[in-house]
Amino acid sequence: MHALVNPVNSLPWQHRFAGLGDTFSSRVAPTPLQHLHWIAQNTSLATELGLPTSLWGQDEWLQALGGSTELPGSQCLASVYSGHQFGVWAGQLGDGRALSLGEINTPMGIQTLQLKGAGMTPYSRMADGRAVLRSSIREYLCSEAMHGLGIPTTRALALVGSPDKVLREELETAAVVTRVAPSFVRFGHVEHFAAKGQTDALRRLTDFVIEHHFPHLLPVTGAQRYLSLLGEVTERTASLLAHWQSVGFCHGVMNTDNMSILGLTIDYGPFQFLDGFNPAHICNHSDHQGRYAYARQPQVAYWNLFCLGQALLPLTEDQDATVATLEGFKQDYPRRMNERFAAKLGFTDAQANDPALLEALLGLLATEQTDFTIFWRRLSHAVGHLAAHDAAHAFQAVRDLFIQASAWDAWLPLYLARLDKQDPVITSQAMLRTNPKFVLRNHLGEQAIQQAKIGHFDEIHVLHRLLSSPFDEHPGFDSHAAFPPEWASSIAISCSS
Ligand code: AMP
Ligand code: MG
Repeated sequence: MHALVNPVNSLPWQHRFAGLGDTFSSRVAPTPLQHLHWIAQNTSLATELGLPTSLWGQDEWLQALGGSTELPGSQCLASVYSGHQFGVWAGQLGDGRALSLGEINTPMGIQTLQLKGAGMTPYSRMADGRAVLRSSIREYLCSEAMHGLGIPTTRALALVGSPDKVLREELETAAVVTRVAPSFVRFGHVEHFAAKGQTDALRRLTDFVIEHHFPHLLPVTGAQRYLSLLGEVTERTASLLAHWQSVGFCHGVMNTDNMSILGLTIDYGPFQFLDGFNPAHICNHSDHQGRYAYARQPQVAYWNLFCLGQALLPLTEDQDATVATLEGFKQDYPRRMNERFAAKLGFTDAQANDPALLEALLGLLATEQTDFTIFWRRLSHAVGHLAAHDAAHAFQAVRDLFIQASAWDAWLPLYLARLDKQDPVITSQAMLRTNPKFVLRNHLGEQAIQQAKIGHFDEIHVLHRLLSSPFDEHPGFDSHAAFPPEWASSIAISCSS
C-alpha cells in the first residue's frame, strides 16, 4: 500500500509578494504558543478554497494555523507599511503581529493566508505580536458576518487558542486567526515608499498590485496607469463605504494603514454594528474626538484616498489629474449609497425624490435612535403584509418602534405612494434579501466571548452559522435578532486587542 500524502505537506504554495524582495517584507518565523487548541474551523471557507477536509484532523494543521510550526513550502513574512493614524502621519508601522504564509491557487483565485497574533516581527515596535482571544473571536465572527452580508472583506479560515497569557488592561489568553484575502496590501504600503522617497520601490509595489489585482490596467502606459488605479480604488472604496453605512457598520479605526487597496473591509478592532440609529455614534473608546463616528466614515474614506493619491504622485506626476480622479468619490459615494438605500426601501428604480424621502426617514430614525437592523427587517415584512392587510395593520409592528409615532405617520403615506404599484410580495422578498435579520451586535459577540473564556465555544459556532446567512430566518434563533439588552451600551471596546 502507498503511504497517503499528508495534505498539510502538499499545499500548492507560491510566493508572489515575497518575490518582491526584502525591501517590502522580512522573513520571520512565528513564535510558538503552547497547548494549541481549535476554537473554530471555517470548513465552508476551506471548501471554497478547495482545501481537503482531511486537513482539519491533522495536528500539523493546528500547529501551523496556531503559529507553532511553519508548513513545508510556506514562507512566513511580515510586510512593511506606514500610515496616517487619527489624521496624523505615524511613520513606519508594518505587520506587527501578522505573518503571511504565502499564496495558494484556489477556486476563489489566488489567496494569501495570513496569521494574526503569531508573535513578534521586526515591525512590532513596543508591542508583543499577540492577539487576545476576545478580539480574535470578534475578528473571526465579523469578517464572516460581513461576507454573509455580501460586503467585501478579508475572510477568516480558523481560530486557534492557547492558554498562554497576554497582558492588556488585564491578563488575557492568546489566540491566532488565520485570515484569507487576495491581497493584504494597504494604502499604508504605498504611503511607506512614497514617504521614504523610494520611487522605484513605489513603482514596483504599485505595478505588482496592478499586475495581480487590476490586470486590465496593464496595457495602460505611463502616468495614466496609476491614475486609473487610483480611480478604481476610489470607486471600490466608495462602494464599500456605502455598503457599510447601509448596514450600520462602524469600523472604528479607519487609519490609512487599515484601508485595503482592494476595497476590502480589513483589520477588525473596535468595530460595531449600530443598535439604535445614532449617526454620531463612536464605537472606539480610544477615539475621543469622534473622528471615526458612523456618519463621518465616508468623509474619512475620502480623506484616506487623498493620502493614497498624494503617495502615488511620484508615479501620476499630476496633481490636478489626481484631485480630479479623487473627485470621483463625490459622485460614486452618493450614487452607491442611494442604490443601497433604494434597495433597502424596496424600490426597483431610482426617482428624483428618493434622496429626500430617505433623508426624512433617517432623520426620524435618528430622532428616536430607533433600532437600525430591526427597523429595516420589520419594514421588509410589513411591505409583504400589504398583500393581505391595509396599511395601518401591515405597518403596525414598524409603528410600534416609535415612541412619538406622528413623524412616522407623516412619512408612511409618502413611502406607500412611492411604492405605488410594485407587487408587495415580490418587493418584500427583495427587501428581505437586502435587510439582514442578523448582524454581529456587540452584546452577541460579548456573550460568545464570555462563554469562550470558560472554555465553551458553542456560541461562536451558532453565531458563525447565523451570520453566514444573515438574510435567512433561522427559526428558533429569534433571540439573536432581538433588541440589545440594557447592558449592551456599557460594553467598551478600544484599540487594545
Ligand atoms: P491597528 O491599530 O491594530 O491597526 O495596529 C496598528 C499597528 O500596530 C500595526 O502596525 C499593527 O501591526 C501594530 N500592532 C497592533 N497591536 C500589536 C501587537 N499586539 N503587537 C505588535 N504590533 C501590534
Ligand atoms: Mg491595523
